Amino acid sequence: MTSIPSLPCIKNLTQTELSSHFVSMGTEAYRLKQFYKEFYQKSPLQFEQLTSIPKSLREQLSNQFSPTSMQLSKKTVSADGTIKFLFDLFSGGSVESVLIPSEMRNEEGLPKRKTLCISSQVGCQLGCKFCATASLKLQRSLSLAEILDQFFLAQTYSETPITNVVFMGMGEPMLNYDTVMRSVELLTDPTLELLSPKRITVSTAGVVPGIIKMADEQRQIKLALSLHATTNGLREKLMPISKKWNIQAVMDALEYYYQKTRIPITFEYILFQGLNDSQEDIKRLTKLTRRFPSKVNIIPFHPIDFTVPTGFAATLQPTSDEAFKNFQQQLLQNDVTVMIRSSSGVDIDAACGQLAFSNVS
Ligand code: SF4
Repeated sequence: MTSIPSLPCIKNLTQTELSSHFVSMGTEAYRLKQFYKEFYQKSPLQFEQLTSIPKSLREQLSNQFSPTSMQLSKKTVSADGTIKFLFDLFSGGSVESVLIPSEMRNEEGLPKRKTLCISSQVGCQLGCKFCATASLKLQRSLSLAEILDQFFLAQTYSETPITNVVFMGMGEPMLNYDTVMRSVELLTDPTLELLSPKRITVSTAGVVPGIIKMADEQRQIKLALSLHATTNGLREKLMPISKKWNIQAVMDALEYYYQKTRIPITFEYILFQGLNDSQEDIKRLTKLTRRFPSKVNIIPFHPIDFTVPTGFAATLQPTSDEAFKNFQQQLLQNDVTVMIRSSSGVDIDAACGQLAFSNVS
């Protein structure tokens, strides 16, 4: 392990803040543009690697800032090519990110898409019963640099560019809203040519004020709701946040987001045996999806044995393969756009709901 830098990370500065800093150093304005583009396109581990920037400026920056906010602690590769990263944060704590290759291949046999699942907090306070991250409780929200560095460091371990980002890792992105949106602004900055907004998805457990804010700000990114139940009673048991914002309140907010942005909404739905996989659930789910253009991702429940669930969480079981296929078929017959979210990385505890430092040795 390398020594932990004591300097602040430069990625915590917005372009405006960086500009003011360059002015205060007496650096010419054109250098800022040059530095900003080269720094974020190369995402170097040392400022010295930015060879087109004058040596004196590189030295000044090296004395004032660290270029990164974290370092790789562990990398685990799944049989299906999914990579789970454990990053140690220089400001304390650890965080996980997962890089998932698509099954579709290009002419060279490489994945057509690479989706990075990014964390927004260390742990989570929302306590969803099916989620391993919940067992960590909330330790803190991530800084701008810590969100961005998951992208830039993961990119260095991928032979093809990361094409999509989903805020679906540890934590609730809406509870770190401003920082998440600042990271989205940088990742979609056209001058950097990293990602287009439509390749970014923010997934929420249903924090209504965050959804409304995204709508009012007309963010051009995708929005997903972790729904997982079609009745308030079950949803409150699975996701305590539903006591604060019930299904109706969240649906109203999602409809508002659609009206403001015209971007279809995604519903995430984990299937639990005997809980949310009945005929009635199919009917209610179908009805919910008809309020605005949307699609449903149905997701197999993954074991979270390593977190020793207790109480209601310990009773959760995956739906049988047959019931899973039947659920999908019936939604399709009801003209619902439905996708099966694969169990990518399940063998390394990197699948949905499994992130909780389980493989730290
Ligand atoms: S599913 Fe998401 S919101 Fe719920 S506890 Fe896990 S990380 Fe938090």
